[in-house]
Amino acid sequence: MKLLLATRSPHKAGEVARIMAAAETRFRLATLESESIPYDPAEELLEPFDTFEENAASKAGHFALLSGLPTVADDSGLEVDALGGRPGVRTKRFAPRERYPGLPRDEANNRHLLKRLRGVPTDGRGARYVCVACFLDPGTGETVHFRGEAEGRILTRPRGTGGFGYDPIFLDDQEGLSYAELTAEEKNGRSHRGRAFRALARFLAARGQGTAAGC
Ligand code: IMP
Repeated sequence: MKLLLATRSPHKAGEVARIMAAAETRFRLATLESESIPYDPAEELLEPFDTFEENAASKAGHFALLSGLPTVADDSGLEVDALGGRPGVRTKRFAPRERYPGLPRDEANNRHLLKRLRGVPTDGRGARYVCVACFLDPGTGETVHFRGEAEGRILTRPRGTGGFGYDPIFLDDQEGLSYAELTAEEKNGRSHRGRAFRALARFLAARGQGTAAGC
């Protein structure tokens, strides 16, 4: 079985490939590149909704239609307690671009969040990463969502060089390390994406298409 992982993010794709490999599924992960699906600027308009579930389904639906393959897409973000759960589904575009000219998006987002939380004490800096993976089978129309969440805290300055996005300022309370200080395996073992995609792997196994036991 071929499963299309519908993301343009090499970071997300790399993490999902490792998570699914560790889950010992027998299907082959295809990518937008391996399926020769060229980038279309209209893809930027695929996530206008107010929930991770709707945005993930929108992306999965778009690419399932283009490819004809069973497809999984992830929508993810950060919910910060001191900001009433924002930026949530707007996490990717949190920093206004005009305020951070010339800065790469991730760095602008991190700076913006640190600025918004300036003066907030440690016990008020709680946050969680959320990932919703939407699986869609265009053959049957079956659509299933898998949500993973990971609790943490926003640091006052970046730490570490691993991971991507907000990882240098997201502290794993249990380890006392930022996500950028964890190894890839450690991050995947506890992250929102690890939880969501392991649930997908269990679902595929139970459906009889994913694991050695099911085939
Ligand atoms: P989207 O899912 O493509 O809409 O964007 C997700 C946003 O959340 C991007 O800004 C990512 O950098 C951020 N994000 C999602 N997952 C992670 C993660 O595992 N580490 C760091 N940032 C993340």
